[in-house]
Amino acid sequence: MKTHVRVVVIGGGVVGVSTLYHLTRKGWTDVALIERTELTAGSTWHAAGLLPLFNMSYTVGQLHKYSVDLYKRLPAETGQDVSFHVTGNLRLATCKERMDEYQKYCGTANTIGVPFEVIGPARVKELWPLIELGGSPDTPAIIGALYHPHDGHIAPADLTMALRKGARSAGAEIYEHTEALGMERTASGEWRVRTSKGNITAEHLVLATGNYARQSGRLLGLSVPAIPVEHQYIVYDESAELKAYRQGGGRELAVLRESDQSYYLREERTGWILGPYESGAPARFAEGVPDWFGRSLFPGDLDRLVPHVEAAARRVPALEDCGIKDIVNGPISYSPDGSPLIGPAWGLRNVWLNEAHSFGITAAGGSGWQLAEWITEGEPGIDMLAVDPRRFGAYTSKRYVVKKNEETYRNVFVIHFPDEERPDARPAKTSPVYALIDAKGAVWGQRYGWERANWFAPPGVERRDRWSFRRSNYFEHVGNEARLMREHAGLIDLSPFTKHEVTGPGAEGWLDGLVANKVPAKIGRLALCHALTRRGGIRSEFTVTKIAEQHYYVVSAGAAERYDSDYLSKALPGDGSVGLRNITNTRGCFVLAGPKSREVLAQLTDTPLDNASFPWLTAQTIEAGLAVEVYALRVNFVGALGWELHFPIEYAHHLFDALFEAGKPFGLGMVGMRAMESLRLEKSYRMWGSDMTPDYTPFEASLDRFVRMNKAAFIGKEALEKQLAGGVPNRFVTLEVHGVTDADPLGNEPLFDAGGRIIGRATSGYYGHCLRKSLAIGYARAEFAQAGTQLAIEILGERKQATVLRESPYDPDNLDLRA
Ligand SMILES: Cc1cc2nc3c(=O)[nH]c(=O)nc-3n(C[C@H](O)[C@H](O)[C@H](O)COP(=O)(O)OP(=O)(O)OC[C@H]3O[C@@H](n4cnc5c(N)ncnc54)[C@H](O)[C@@H]3O)c2cc1C
Repeated sequence: MKTHVRVVVIGGGVVGVSTLYHLTRKGWTDVALIERTELTAGSTWHAAGLLPLFNMSYTVGQLHKYSVDLYKRLPAETGQDVSFHVTGNLRLATCKERMDEYQKYCGTANTIGVPFEVIGPARVKELWPLIELGGSPDTPAIIGALYHPHDGHIAPADLTMALRKGARSAGAEIYEHTEALGMERTASGEWRVRTSKGNITAEHLVLATGNYARQSGRLLGLSVPAIPVEHQYIVYDESAELKAYRQGGGRELAVLRESDQSYYLREERTGWILGPYESGAPARFAEGVPDWFGRSLFPGDLDRLVPHVEAAARRVPALEDCGIKDIVNGPISYSPDGSPLIGPAWGLRNVWLNEAHSFGITAAGGSGWQLAEWITEGEPGIDMLAVDPRRFGAYTSKRYVVKKNEETYRNVFVIHFPDEERPDARPAKTSPVYALIDAKGAVWGQRYGWERANWFAPPGVERRDRWSFRRSNYFEHVGNEARLMREHAGLIDLSPFTKHEVTGPGAEGWLDGLVANKVPAKIGRLALCHALTRRGGIRSEFTVTKIAEQHYYVVSAGAAERYDSDYLSKALPGDGSVGLRNITNTRGCFVLAGPKSREVLAQLTDTPLDNASFPWLTAQTIEAGLAVEVYALRVNFVGALGWELHFPIEYAHHLFDALFEAGKPFGLGMVGMRAMESLRLEKSYRMWGSDMTPDYTPFEASLDRFVRMNKAAFIGKEALEKQLAGGVPNRFVTLEVHGVTDADPLGNEPLFDAGGRIIGRATSGYYGHCLRKSLAIGYARAEFAQAGTQLAIEILGERKQATVLRESPYDPDNLDLRA
């Protein structure tokens, strides 16, 4: 065994081997993989081998597409067949909401370039002659389906062997029966892996350990939020009908998914494989995989599967008389949101995760592709925020992950409503004023473990969402909250904001080198600053306020806590000149905004709040009521006169009560996240994570005013220079969508020019309640971004006319903000 390589990949499942293969494709051939037993011995060997292109996530969709394309090329490239049956993939719909889901997906698929067809029942029958179209109470009628003609199923072990062959022929080493037992940093900053066969040292470590993610993470002090759940499929004996159909010249049937009955079905020789996603499947190995498990399976539990088996037999009567040959019940790794963990481990340099794959056969190609790019080039080639391991934080305790993963598993086939809020493991993290907000009728949602009020049900109104792809029960109430904010005063609890304190003599220079804007030099000034990737994409957005000499207060998105904290701490200079403290949980934040907000706040503070004394885009440390050391920032995300009040957390309760007492005569009311969404879209404010991502530069995002190209240097500057020289390909657009009656854009819809060509995509959308317009924001090719340009947008399968508006359709001159 080599003792020194550039990268050690730990884990020889399809994901680890794909990572190794892709490292060699990037020219890093001095790389090795260690596997505790044999390649594929984890979950890979028993997978059903389905390769669904369908995925609601823009990122995961791209990874899956890459995989399917790669797997088709691999046999020619490596000489190893992978048994890829391009059967196509048919997802049935038996209700309108399911068709809405498919149509929403189609928007994403169009922007990624995944081919699909939306078909009717007659075509379903044509493609799948053995199907019962239904129409009775226990077998609902098929009203349509989504058909992917180009995917199918593959032999997972053959696929792994092809990737292995490709990697080894390029020089990579693979050591089987070699277990990683410990990992430590060497004095030179490399990683020494202690294995059952001796030590091996590497610059980079990749953990691709599948069901073992918990214990391999623990070797590095990481609590990896990946715990497997049992998943079963049934292998049936020969089916006489299927045999007759195939002998009669029928082509292999598409992989069938009856989403509304939560199962998949595919041919297996002349029989079937049926895989339900059932309720009651338990999480396993929360403490780690016991030694006895090895290349094993759990005993089958047919009882759990019965409702799905019966539903499948009603839909495909050919199943009825088939005997059951086998039940395969294996562990399938999950993360709390069902997407994998691909990217850097937090807090450790050059440690990478490629874990928590629940569709790992499908995702292996794409995850290896992007992770190899990240390792070798320092950054991935596409926006990977949706799978970045740092999207989860320290709140992912063992019990949290167990509950969430079981919930995610049983929800694999539910309709993925855009406003869905799943109930398990909640409430977990709450603001100190949770009970006070709850008493005001909050209908709660959850993000990054935090409870956040989505909207407020007035007395007598049911405190519950009716999830939908269309306008729903809360539409009117969200509208009232938005108007309250524009006409009177509203309060939003944004305590989950990520907050860092940056101090020391090197603070200003260091921050300035990280972001594209000029960091404020004067006390009391604040600036919106974007940290860029080296390719010039937007990686983070910070509101940077200079509180005192050598003291900055840095605020970013609540869901970016670990992501930003990890980035900032890894970027710190080694000379001790900069102090960095994550103070997220020591300060709360209330947004007090609206035309009456000045009068409300004035009752709590002696600090003059008039425009001359406290202008827009400045900050002061004030007393408010009994609270001291309140950082009052005259900015907000709703585009109204107002302040973000960042206060020591112990004053949350007091400040909340005091503000509502003071606000009574002015009609102060609570405003939820959905109204905030409506308000920020009326102002064309971009949201980190959806509208601002590494896929787009700040010039493409039309954030030119926040970029100082005359600064000496900042990360991403060279890429921006190149882009300016070559022309900015896309530009940010705000669109008014015409003719919408009940389905507003929500993001990930394709944009079309007059000739019907896709020329961009919406990244967010909502109804602008105050403007009374359906709005979308996103990116269009630069030549289509002029105000007045007529485009089309596809919402749930319908093309709607859309006009490019001047930015910030509500109050474009910011008169409210400056009031
Ligand atoms: C019943 C079932 C059906 C499935 N069907 C499908 C499907 O149709 N399509 C699909 O896309 N996915 C499917 N999956 C999921 C798929 O099997 C997994 O997502 C995929 O195999 C994960 O691959 P992996 O490489 O991440 O993990 P694994 O295959 O589990 O590999 C991890 C490897 O790491 C090794 N390892 C762990 N710790 C160490 C250590 N300390 N040192 C060295 N080696 C170590 C293990 O021995 C193991 O070989 C299915 C899963 C199940 C259970």
